[in-house]
Amino acid sequence: MIPISKPQFGEEELALVREVLESGIVAQGPKVAQLEEEFAALCGTKYAVAVSSGTTALHLALLAHGIGPGDEVITSPFTFIASANSVLFTGATPRFVDIRKDTYNLDPDQLESAITPRTKAIMPVHLYGLMADMDPIMEIAERHGLAVIEDAAQAHGATYKGRKAGSFGTGCFSLYATKNMTSAEGGMVTTNDPEIAERVKLLRAHGSKVRYYHDILGYNFRLTDLHAAVGLAQLKKLEQFNAARQRNAEFLNAHLQNVVVPCVPEGQTHVWHQYTIRLEHTDRDAAIEKLKAKGVGSAVFYPVPVYRQKVYLDRGYDLSLPATEEVTKQVLSLPVHPALTSADLETIVEAVNSL
Ligand SMILES: *Cc1c(COP(=O)(O)O)cnc(C)c1O
Repeated sequence: MIPISKPQFGEEELALVREVLESGIVAQGPKVAQLEEEFAALCGTKYAVAVSSGTTALHLALLAHGIGPGDEVITSPFTFIASANSVLFTGATPRFVDIRKDTYNLDPDQLESAITPRTKAIMPVHLYGLMADMDPIMEIAERHGLAVIEDAAQAHGATYKGRKAGSFGTGCFSLYATKNMTSAEGGMVTTNDPEIAERVKLLRAHGSKVRYYHDILGYNFRLTDLHAAVGLAQLKKLEQFNAARQRNAEFLNAHLQNVVVPCVPEGQTHVWHQYTIRLEHTDRDAAIEKLKAKGVGSAVFYPVPVYRQKVYLDRGYDLSLPATEEVTKQVLSLPVHPALTSADLETIVEAVNSL
């Protein structure tokens, strides 16, 4: 079976993990600091603060912007649940705006009508490795005095008009096992604002700058040096991983037939966390079974709009956003990861074209 994702580890990860174990410093230490420095350089931001996951990155970014009970944050309903849940964690309310059917990202044309006096931030999600349409999003945010928290969990290294994901607003990244680069579990907050960076640092370690003196209520959301060691080795390979994903996606774009292939808007680079097609006239469940029978793994990201998840229904959400409703029924992601061989790509094309 060609798996939908496959983490790539080698001697580089092993050597750095060994170095950390032999050093005896396994919790947050010098490797975390080095990963932060290199991650900020990758994104072109002044600061990067490492945390325990993409979810905690989002949670702490929102808290660092002062978001809490009574506030509203606008985000996409077509995403992993963590985007919206991070808003709930702070006591604020997520407000969902529909997506564009071609990019699967927030539709900027629908943003302004969702802004209320309580709105404090916009959280675009750079889904599948393609950045949201940041020019109009930043313009609207500035005009209304709103913070922008980018959910860049799937977009390490993606660009929009030459600028990196995570460098527009406060960037939140995941380093989970299946992402474009990984530390097994982990996350990163990127920013140019020294106060935001400082607050995230405080919040990740029990509100403590000086050990055992606590200024604010914080958490233990630290990353460990063991995880950072894996992350450092992965960061060095990110460019090469993303280039392999781009080559694989180009091949699929050129050869797949009778399905809607992904689009890449002018001026953007896609880093293909997922390669996602849409089946407009084919039964998706049957297609998944047929692909499986030919040895091709696939997955549905995501089958249910966030506002239809039980946790949101239980909180009174009663929405139906047309583009989101349609794409949740049609999307199917195919393997695009760096470990695919030419033979794998041929197998995927043959299997999809005979659906
Ligand atoms: C993976 C992911 C997250 C959460 O990251 P974790 O590291 O799993 O906590 C948030 N948002 C999106 C869009 C993701 O894909």
